[in-house]
Amino acid sequence: MKTIYSKQHILHNSLTELSGGELVKPFESPDRVDIILNEISNRQLGPILQPTVQDLDIIYKVHNEKYIEFLKNAWKEWTEEGFKGEAIPTVWPSRSMKSKIIPKNIEGKLGYYCLANETSISEGTIEGAYESVKVALTAVDMLQKEKSIFGLCRPPGHHASRDQYGGYCFFNNIAIAAEKLIEKGAKKIFILDIDFHHGNGTQEIFYRRSDVFFASLHGDPMQAFPHFLGHAEETGIEEGEGFNINYPMPPNTSYTQWKKSLKKAMNKVENFRPDFLLISLGVDTFEDDPISFFKLKSNDYFDIGKSISELGIPTLFIMEGGYAINQIGINTVNILKGFEEKFVSI
Ligand SMILES: [Zn+2]
Repeated sequence: MKTIYSKQHILHNSLTELSGGELVKPFESPDRVDIILNEISNRQLGPILQPTVQDLDIIYKVHNEKYIEFLKNAWKEWTEEGFKGEAIPTVWPSRSMKSKIIPKNIEGKLGYYCLANETSISEGTIEGAYESVKVALTAVDMLQKEKSIFGLCRPPGHHASRDQYGGYCFFNNIAIAAEKLIEKGAKKIFILDIDFHHGNGTQEIFYRRSDVFFASLHGDPMQAFPHFLGHAEETGIEEGEGFNINYPMPPNTSYTQWKKSLKKAMNKVENFRPDFLLISLGVDTFEDDPISFFKLKSNDYFDIGKSISELGIPTLFIMEGGYAINQIGINTVNILKGFEEKFVSI
């Protein structure tokens, strides 16, 4: 299996994350990519390639124009205001302040466009986010010829909604990949999100659509980030009714329990018969992940890949989360190896 990644992901390298009332080194760090690449090389998964030149206008199909403008200018406006730290919002249009008027001041804009403030914006953040989109789009181009591709995107994307960032995500890479596949003629796309956290951004983007089915396996939002989306009763609206499904699971969920949800989601894939399967690949379901609460073990990831491959559908893997840094390479490559060794096209 070919891997696409951009050396330029390092452009996004924030130094602070607000966690438990402290500023800590971000869990979503550049060395995650290095560790995954090492494992890919050691286990000879396949060639590792840089992204090609891409038309990035497709981002406007997924994200709001004003939001993109905000991201482009946020760091400049923040520093011009004289702030010394990285850009973190402090105030939001919360339930008791419902005005839709977007403030002009950068502090207000940050609150308007941010959904969770663990994610700092710093110099190079937007450039790094564009690189991640290029990785996803290059992977889409190659998927036309290959049975499977791994887009090693960083920063991740599944928490980014049409006009909000957070959860370490700025552009929704997998949603942009889905739009590109549709632009190239695909009629039906299935996005299966196996990251520990609910893919709230992807859900929001496709919630009214029947051509992109979204299914997510994740920590119950009653207990886990992003807390305000990801419940089982969210099934889509209007044309999208019945094309969104969530499988929230409680703390300490084992692989045996988790796999029951995977099988249910795979039944949905089989019934939907998509042209392409897109996997939001997070390995923060791992038992030692520092910010999550499932109990999957490294060997389980091989079985996940094997199970998904049994669907026999061309599959694009897009990297999302995973913060147990010592095992992130092993767990990620176990999924890809498990997939590759079992894949039989049907
Ligand atoms: Zn996650």
